[in-house]
Amino acid sequence: MPEMPEVEILARHLRPLLRGKTVHSVNVRRERSTRPTPPRQFEKVLAGARFKDLSRRGKYLQFQLQAKRQAKSMTVLGHLGMTGRMFLTLKKEPLPSHTAVVFDLGSHHFVFEDWRYFGRMSLDMSPLDTLGPEPADVSPEAFAESLKKSRQSIKVKLLDQELIAGVGNIYASEALFRARISPKLPANRLTPAQAKTLLHSVRDVLNEAVKFGSTVPLKTMSGKSDALFYFSNDGEGFYEKRLRVYDREGKPCLNCGTKIKRITQAARSTYFCPRCQKGR
Ligand SMILES: [Zn+2]
Repeated sequence: MPEMPEVEILARHLRPLLRGKTVHSVNVRRERSTRPTPPRQFEKVLAGARFKDLSRRGKYLQFQLQAKRQAKSMTVLGHLGMTGRMFLTLKKEPLPSHTAVVFDLGSHHFVFEDWRYFGRMSLDMSPLDTLGPEPADVSPEAFAESLKKSRQSIKVKLLDQELIAGVGNIYASEALFRARISPKLPANRLTPAQAKTLLHSVRDVLNEAVKFGSTVPLKTMSGKSDALFYFSNDGEGFYEKRLRVYDREGKPCLNCGTKIKRITQAARSTYFCPRCQKGR
């Protein structure tokens, strides 16, 4: 599942490709994928518009466009859901069978493909209203203060997008391991020092993931539809290989050799070292 680093990498990849491109037409092939915006409205409003910019907020993509013959700017809010992918292909290439929305850009198609249809592209900005600050924008004091209000286990609380935006299941486990904090510790029991360490660990794991590459293969516009979108610059391969606890159940902890444990919290897997991350 795409997490915040994958969305950031995708935004950086697509931004220069889309900027300045005019939308000749839009075709919504899966009605559910623009919900709550009606598909025909989505198509009508965006026809003739021009891509101005692309940014990320949490796990959302914000496509800024300029409406046709108007100074008015519009934003399309995108979310990859579990299986969504967004990429450009040459127009002569056949569209993938799970294409949800396709933008005709002249020589290229901008495709939103989604096998399981949990992703979205809509004109509804309301999901951003309840989004917490980006991890880089919150102070350790404010972060510690928010944790004081919750008795949920810290791992579950980290996934709460109202606390901070963009932390998903993989990086929650990774950040807690680095901060040497038990995933089972109630959020309101973290000391101010632990909260500060955890916030820095969250920033570090997310920044490293962006730097070293996506865990999700994405298509390029090279015309080779199976070409992988992103490799790390240092030749180490996907960031997956750099994960220290996630998906490593039974394998030795990289710090102490103790076997990594997996538990289920709020129906999601948590991985941790019972020795390095002591406590309840
Ligand atoms: Zn350990």
